[in-house]
Amino acid sequence: MRTAAQLRGDLRDIDRRSYPAYKSLAGSFGFGGYILHIEHVQGDPFAAPSRLRVEVSRRAAAFPDRLCQSPVDRRALADCLLRRFDRQAGRFSFQAKGSGKSGVIAVSRCGQEVLERTACEITDQAVHLRFEVGFPANGRTINAPELEKILFEYLPVCVEQSLFYAKLPKGEAEEAVFLAEDQAYIRQELERRRLAAFVADGAVLPRESGVSDRPMAGAVPFAAPETMAVELDLPHRGRLRGMGVPEGITLIAGGGYHGKSTLLKALERGVYDHVAGDGREYVITRSSALKIRAEDGRKITNTDVSLFINHLPNGRDTVRFSTLDASGSTSQAANIIEGIESGSRVLLIDEDTSAANLMARDGLMRLAIAPDKEPITPFLERVTDLYKKAGVSVILVVGSCGDYFHVADKVLQMDAYRALDITDRTRALLEGRPGVDPAPDFRLPADRRTLPIAGAVQTRRNYRGSGTVQERLKVRRLGKTAFSLGGEDLDLRYVEQLVDGEQTQALACILRYVRERWTGQQVNVREVVDQVERILETEGLAGICGDRTVPSGLAMPRRQEIFACLNRC
Ligand code: ADP
Ligand code: MG
Repeated sequence: MRTAAQLRGDLRDIDRRSYPAYKSLAGSFGFGGYILHIEHVQGDPFAAPSRLRVEVSRRAAAFPDRLCQSPVDRRALADCLLRRFDRQAGRFSFQAKGSGKSGVIAVSRCGQEVLERTACEITDQAVHLRFEVGFPANGRTINAPELEKILFEYLPVCVEQSLFYAKLPKGEAEEAVFLAEDQAYIRQELERRRLAAFVADGAVLPRESGVSDRPMAGAVPFAAPETMAVELDLPHRGRLRGMGVPEGITLIAGGGYHGKSTLLKALERGVYDHVAGDGREYVITRSSALKIRAEDGRKITNTDVSLFINHLPNGRDTVRFSTLDASGSTSQAANIIEGIESGSRVLLIDEDTSAANLMARDGLMRLAIAPDKEPITPFLERVTDLYKKAGVSVILVVGSCGDYFHVADKVLQMDAYRALDITDRTRALLEGRPGVDPAPDFRLPADRRTLPIAGAVQTRRNYRGSGTVQERLKVRRLGKTAFSLGGEDLDLRYVEQLVDGEQTQALACILRYVRERWTGQQVNVREVVDQVERILETEGLAGICGDRTVPSGLAMPRRQEIFACLNRC
């Protein structure tokens, strides 16, 4: 390891040289309180900024062990430090000047969810913070004094103000960690009490706008109907009352614009923990819960959709169903089957984004279209068995199909944003009406589904354009929900519980890892995801980066989204 003084000397030596001379700065430098790693130096001032890592030993950072015990604690603390660092970096970014991205100091932007990220990691030995710096230039000429300002004036302040316990405002780290522990406690209680979800009294569910994930000001706070109220004793916050959604089949009914979808959306997000002040801190859903929707146009490979679809007119096999362009109903059927395969035991469905013909078929339509002319067994006729025989709970928003009252265990009504339990009232309405019989032959597919894995190299034209070269797979970011890997694009915009572009980036890296490790093989999807998860658990996101430098912009996706990614490629 070199010293900070050597770095300063080296930096002065390369002033006004051409940009690539910056490359000589790569390495590790002792800065007294921390080590600065210059891991990757950009090739020119307009390229992606250089990648740096600051390492502070746990002893120097001096966070009490009490705040770093469990993975949950560390994730919450790392999130808290990262947000602090971001605020500091924001003050200094672009204070150093120059062409292109000169002077930028950028770190991951955290949203309302608390996610495990490569940007900040707390290990037994150290706190690691990964970020990017645009090394300054005038044109393509190195401007060393400006980088000197960043590395020797700005960065030390950012590091000191965000990564050392003694410098944090009193109680800030504790607040983040204790909230996470309370949230983890609620997750445990959900399992123990056989609840699918919990929504605390006072929770603020609606967001500021369609493009802002911040809480709506002046919203009607959530209040649990008496019949569904549960009380929890959180380890830090103490007693908390809220609505417990039991396992089974729960409907969210109500008139248009009364807040149904808003409640469901909050439940979708409840698989993640939220930061203090979000309004959904205590909206917690079983971690495996999966939003199901229609997704016409998605690719499906070897999925057994026969629980819902049989006897297609073209004679297509629905036990090993494959298509490059699924219809609304087949895509939704595949999403359900693959979701159960991924281990989800709570499905979240909104009528708004469902295929109507998959959800139900009314009496008149049954009379008009003979059963042998209809390939679809509606969800309505499967949902009872899904819960009773396979233990899969469903929370379903319905505004138009009253037949679901026949199969529901609980019916909530959203009435001007207030939740009412109308289960008994709807039961009374059903008296004397014919019920809904479950369809015959309920059987979940076996876990033997396989997928072909593509190769681990990509081909591109050589520089002269006269031939081709083979190279390692490259990941390219295409917005928040899409990426390209080795030139193949994958769009995950309908995988609605992906909440952060960094999760999408991580999925791209996971897919690259899968292609490199299982190149050209026909693999069992479940086994591959199990192995990937084991690596993520033991080594974190670094584990899927192979011999590459761990980038700063990866956030942990769930098992469900890893499945979703593999299933669509
Ligand atoms: P639905 O699905 O029943 O048609 P939505 O959930 O889409 O209704 O809600 C309709 C509108 O009401 C949305 O603009 C939403 O932001 C707003 N809204 C939802 N819940 C609340 C609330 N608790 N307080 C205030 N406004 C809300
Ligand atoms: Mg709606």
